[in-house]
Amino acid sequence: MQLKIYNSLTGEKEIFKPILDGNVGMYVCGPTVYSNVHLGNVRTFLSFDFIYRSLTHLGYKVRYVRNITDAGHLTDDGDVNNDRFVKQTRLEKLEPMEIVQKYTVDFHKVLEMFNLLPPNIEPTATGHIVEQIELTQKLIERGFAYESNGSVYFDVLEYNRRGLNYGELSKRNIEELFANTRDLDGQGEKKNPQDFALWKKASPAHIMRWNSPWGEGFPGWHLECTAMSTKYLGETFDIHGGGMDLKFPHHECEIAQGKACNDSAPVNYWMHANMLTMNSQRMSKSTGNYILPMQLVTGENDFFEKPFHPAIVRFCFLQAHYRSVLDISNDAMLASEKGFIRLMEAVKVLQSITPNDEKQSGFSFEEWKNKAYDALTDDFNSPVLIAHLFEAVKYIFALKDGKETISKNDLEDLKSTLNALIFDVLGLQTIEENNNEKLDQTLKVLIELRNQARKSKNFELSDQIRDRLLAEGIELKDGRDGTTYVLN
Ligand code: AMP
Ligand code: ZN
Repeated sequence: MQLKIYNSLTGEKEIFKPILDGNVGMYVCGPTVYSNVHLGNVRTFLSFDFIYRSLTHLGYKVRYVRNITDAGHLTDDGDVNNDRFVKQTRLEKLEPMEIVQKYTVDFHKVLEMFNLLPPNIEPTATGHIVEQIELTQKLIERGFAYESNGSVYFDVLEYNRRGLNYGELSKRNIEELFANTRDLDGQGEKKNPQDFALWKKASPAHIMRWNSPWGEGFPGWHLECTAMSTKYLGETFDIHGGGMDLKFPHHECEIAQGKACNDSAPVNYWMHANMLTMNSQRMSKSTGNYILPMQLVTGENDFFEKPFHPAIVRFCFLQAHYRSVLDISNDAMLASEKGFIRLMEAVKVLQSITPNDEKQSGFSFEEWKNKAYDALTDDFNSPVLIAHLFEAVKYIFALKDGKETISKNDLEDLKSTLNALIFDVLGLQTIEENNNEKLDQTLKVLIELRNQARKSKNFELSDQIRDRLLAEGIELKDGRDGTTYVLN
């Protein structure tokens, strides 16, 4: 079986050849932890979780590195007002590292809710300042970077002058880039507007600052990923992933930094996950067109008519290929829920099937299994894989109705193959409906008792019910239509 991966750099599906036979080094750009991740961010991380799970299932030993950006991600190349962390510290009246901790914890909680596996290494930008300073020094020594007024910039024109090609990933032409550049703050320090910051001088108001050979400052965003990916995966590694929107400038700059430092391309396969849209527009915090994962799961939003279990959200995401745009909608979620329930029902039904070798079956297990694995190894084609799973579902229900037969060996093989594909590779989880129903009934009783206590002005008891539940992570919400609850 040959694994094919679409390489964004070449624009082609290529046969995957790891640097070290049987091993894969994979780096995925992590979140900038200055606010809660939205559902769009989750889609990208989930896409790479599926890819990580698939590689592992196919027998590769994967070292999966996903960083945490906890410093230096400016909204543009400008001053302190564009630093997301510094802005948020003012808004929330917290220390930068409190902001970082708060949203890192939230990020982990959200990903766990959607059953994402943790990466093998999760390095932080602030934990790798020394490496970033060293890389900056190396780039200056090699003539690819220059200091200007306490900041250090990468010299894009010099890079191209040496026969390299800034723009090779995003297929942008450098002349066009120069023509279209806006007048940005800090640009006066640069030789050319496309030069990007490796190190930025910190103004007196900038609270995130470190000592460096160029005075106090902070690292540029692009450099952190070069520092961390090469530290843990080597100067050239197998796979680099991230959302489509990171292709330019972030990944373009990473390629330039890597080549300028080491005379070799840092990455063999660039993989880009496509965007989640809502109302046909890209989900994004800045436009307000977004939904938080928790809002979808609790139903506290104006967009979806009911809450959806995280496993159903995960299933919905995987019903689209990672390179396709996915527009999330109420109808899409309802359809996924229906499909998910049928799939899980089939898994249950399969346990009670008894083998019967006597008659010839119209279903070839071997053929089916090959098709399923062909989809998986064809650039991780999850929607086609899921379509094949539903062929098996149809067969399982036919077995149940006595309309089909299966041999003992095939039955065992079908069970283990389905388990592996559904739970290990797609990462789906069964939903414990009974427990949820029991919990729901219990909470309804408690809400009723609290209402009775309030009616008879026994506020001590009613408050006690609310506070004790809250301490257990169950929040009661009083609204116009009565009291509801949220599981935190
Ligand atoms: P950020 O924290 O802004 O660096 O984003 C974290 C990841 O989420 C990046 O890989 C982005 O490409 C990705 N991302 C941002 N918006 C979306 C979206 N609407 N759909 C899918 N991925 C997204
Ligand atoms: Zn990155």
